[in-house]
Amino acid sequence: MTAPHDTTAGAGTAPVKQDFIRQIVRDDLASGKHAAIRTRFPPEPNGYLHIGHAKAICLDFGIAEEFGGRCNLRFDDTNPEKEHPEFVQAIQDDVRWLGFDWASLRHASDYFEVFYLAAEKLIRQGDAFVCDLSAEQVREYRGTLTEPGRESPYRNRSVEENLDLFRRMRAGEFEDGARTLRARIDMASGNMNMRDPALYRIKKVPHQNTGDAWPIYPMYDIAHALGDAVEGITHSLCTLEFEDHRPLYDWCVDKVDLAGHPELLEPLRARGLPIEAGKPRQIEFSRLNINYAVMSKRKLTQLVAEGLVDGWDDPRMYTLQGLRRRGYTPGALRLFVERLGISKQNSVIDFSVLEGALREDLDARAPRRMAVVAPLKLVITNLPQGHSESLRFPNHPKDPSFGEREVPFSREVWIERDDFAEVPPKGWKRLVPGGEVRLRGAGIVRCDEVVHDAAGDPVELRCTLDPESRPGMEGANRKVKGTIHWVDAARAVPAEIRLYDRLFSVPDPDDEADGRTSYRDHINPDSRVTVRGYIEPAAAAAAPEESFQFERLGYFVADRRDHGPAGPVFNRSVTLRDTWSVR
Ligand code: ATP
Ligand code: MG
Repeated sequence: MTAPHDTTAGAGTAPVKQDFIRQIVRDDLASGKHAAIRTRFPPEPNGYLHIGHAKAICLDFGIAEEFGGRCNLRFDDTNPEKEHPEFVQAIQDDVRWLGFDWASLRHASDYFEVFYLAAEKLIRQGDAFVCDLSAEQVREYRGTLTEPGRESPYRNRSVEENLDLFRRMRAGEFEDGARTLRARIDMASGNMNMRDPALYRIKKVPHQNTGDAWPIYPMYDIAHALGDAVEGITHSLCTLEFEDHRPLYDWCVDKVDLAGHPELLEPLRARGLPIEAGKPRQIEFSRLNINYAVMSKRKLTQLVAEGLVDGWDDPRMYTLQGLRRRGYTPGALRLFVERLGISKQNSVIDFSVLEGALREDLDARAPRRMAVVAPLKLVITNLPQGHSESLRFPNHPKDPSFGEREVPFSREVWIERDDFAEVPPKGWKRLVPGGEVRLRGAGIVRCDEVVHDAAGDPVELRCTLDPESRPGMEGANRKVKGTIHWVDAARAVPAEIRLYDRLFSVPDPDDEADGRTSYRDHINPDSRVTVRGYIEPAAAAAAPEESFQFERLGYFVADRRDHGPAGPVFNRSVTLRDTWSVR
């Protein structure tokens, strides 16, 4: 973990980030290799973004911002079966929510014509061939890490035959999987990715952007490399699993050489897209992994599909939509990513680091309110029936600029059942029969009598309020052991309060090594407990997505879907203290 930064400093005085990627960018600008930098964030629109993507977004957009460059948002839409416009929209919303904006919005599919011309160029150069081997045969021919592969019998087709076949692939003459276009590189390469990898496949599937226009689609490697080259990306940042693909990335960029072949970019000109081609450099960094979480789109999709959570934006999900609904703020996520730093070291980050960033962000920006989640009635017998007053409370204990609010107070209040014990454990500081406690901001009460229900559980505490301990009175600062929160029984608003906790109960839910358990078996049954409680009127009046600290309980956010005219609904974002590390 890097040293904590002074997060109160304004942007102008923010500490200069020193990771190896920023150092490369600095050097490239200093040497004049690039006059300006360009980056891109290239999500595949096959699901919602998750917390891991936040790291990539903050890096791609953040670096462009810090060095006066530009960052594109490019949808890597080369897998039509799994992609959907719903995801295209949601990804844009998420990037904006995190506080970033793109220089230009692109789709890999915007370049399908360019990629096609590039593929014909590779064929003419003798760098690509049409192969008739089936997927299974290709696997057999590929060899292993210790054995070289065998060359495809179709590898030495003439340029004319290859061009003819590729054009007929494009015309839709062949069935799915019947042929592929493959790079002609080296079947003995120590890098499996260089053993004549597929560049194009036949797939007669409509595309979310191009409809039925294409029966063939480019593979990830060529589309990504040429997409970067088309946009003049200078630094193409991606996660470490693509390190082995870098030689193929460079091969595609160099063999096609878009910057040196303007004719390949004609289709862009025809469509009015800017011509910016250059020679990009791929640089890899380590993925974000967090314990108590799963983070691949595939598994997040399964959680939703199998009903283990209530949708993509379930507040327990690791999607940005879920985190947002849980009450995570862009500031907390950016602070979290900043703390992680950027390196090539793979590691697993403790979930408490994420929660700590949220606490820190909300401590500074969330007003304080009072709420009671498990109510027990407390009656102040020495106040007259119908007594009613308004107390003034500061909205933030450390920041007067938050102002003050009125908190109603009357003869009956709700306190937490947990703040009263008939038989107190050792060291108990809160209310007991015959004992005293301070009602925060209102004065000191003594419990004279406990009323029980038929089952013997306390249902009402009859207390007297020490008039000398009221705010502004001489005895207002009299010492008592405990201070508890409360809400006025007459004017508090009933609220649905969802007490969320970690979705998984074990640090490595993803450990399927024994082949029998799966992350599905590790769902924390207490990850959501819904209660009916009471909140003070100033909390009930919140707008959706407004966050508060409910004193002594944690940080809560007004649910962005369900909170509203029908009644307040609050989600617990995080407790005030980490209770997991001590389990
Ligand atoms: P997943 O495996 O979860 O589906 P992905 O890598 O397939 O993720 P993409 O949409 O292809 O998701 O990724 C877009 C960008 O986000 C890529 O540059 C990828 O490297 C980056 N990214 C994805 N997951 C993480 C992560 N956990 N940490 C950092 N960056 C990530
Ligand atoms: Mg992917």
